[in-house]
Amino acid sequence: MTATVPDAATIRNALQEAHTQFKDVADGQNASYIPYLANVPSSLFGLAVTTVDGKIFEAGDTRYEFAIESISKVFSLALVMEEMGPEDLRAKVGADPTGLPFNSVVAIELHNGKPLTPLVNAGAMATVSLVKAATPNERWQKLLTMCSRFAGRQLSLNQEVYKSEAASNFHNRAIAWLLYSYGTMYSDPIETCDVYTKQCSIGITTADLATMGATLAADGLNPVTRSRVLNSDNVPHILAEMTMEGLYTSSGDWAYEVGLPGKSGVGGGLLAVAPGVLAISSFSPPLDPVGNSVRGMQAIKYIAAKLKLNVYLNEAACVVA
Ligand code: GLU
Repeated sequence: MTATVPDAATIRNALQEAHTQFKDVADGQNASYIPYLANVPSSLFGLAVTTVDGKIFEAGDTRYEFAIESISKVFSLALVMEEMGPEDLRAKVGADPTGLPFNSVVAIELHNGKPLTPLVNAGAMATVSLVKAATPNERWQKLLTMCSRFAGRQLSLNQEVYKSEAASNFHNRAIAWLLYSYGTMYSDPIETCDVYTKQCSIGITTADLATMGATLAADGLNPVTRSRVLNSDNVPHILAEMTMEGLYTSSGDWAYEVGLPGKSGVGGGLLAVAPGVLAISSFSPPLDPVGNSVRGMQAIKYIAAKLKLNVYLNEAACVVA
């Protein structure tokens, strides 16, 4: 991977080229199991980069607010890791890929109730249940504050997304009760599932998402606000989780092809983090069958290759050779 931040013109060109090249890709479909998401305009397409020195670059529909969905799991993981430390969290939730879909009940059964990773629904709800709080509202406010500190602005709940998801989240409620039956749900299951549903319904823009990722790229310091959001020691653990489970059951293919820790959400958002350099974000609602944004994956793959960001690529060795 390149060790330095590419110059502004190079980043701007890569973003613009990717936007032009992939904006007309018509593959994939909006998520429809959450009714709100089925109706988000499929043509929306935004790309952004935030660098570790706090510069933001954008192309396309980067100011449209969309539902963060599963990408929020990275930030609930960060909050609980800060509160209880990485080892306690790992003992309770785990740090391995499940190899199964994000809402799998089978994965829970196969591992005696241990969710394995905070980046699938079961693990995210178990993680939310561990947030230190006296009430569900306090738990929710802490999660919203954490996401806002990553984004560098006050984020809010998209009420329409929340209503749509809360009225249809029966599968997640079942997962919450299943964890409870195994002793791996640490607060009231239904209240926890509701807080988790709220965290998934936070509205973010593509530009917000790039800055959230850049806070991880900058070892836990938000490069735009210059405020420390999390302990730098926790960042590698979070990036490792993203590598293993960030793109659902395509996480291995993503590591193979792109070589960057990432996280996607069924709202159409996708984030990739190049540690020490920058973060790339995208928003485009149509998803592949696994749940990843089709245009988003293509665009980020293009930008990452153009900027030589693959973490497994030794850029110095390439130059010498
Ligand atoms: N709120 C969604 C769910 O729980 C998030 C899924 C996702 O983005 O992967 O099903």
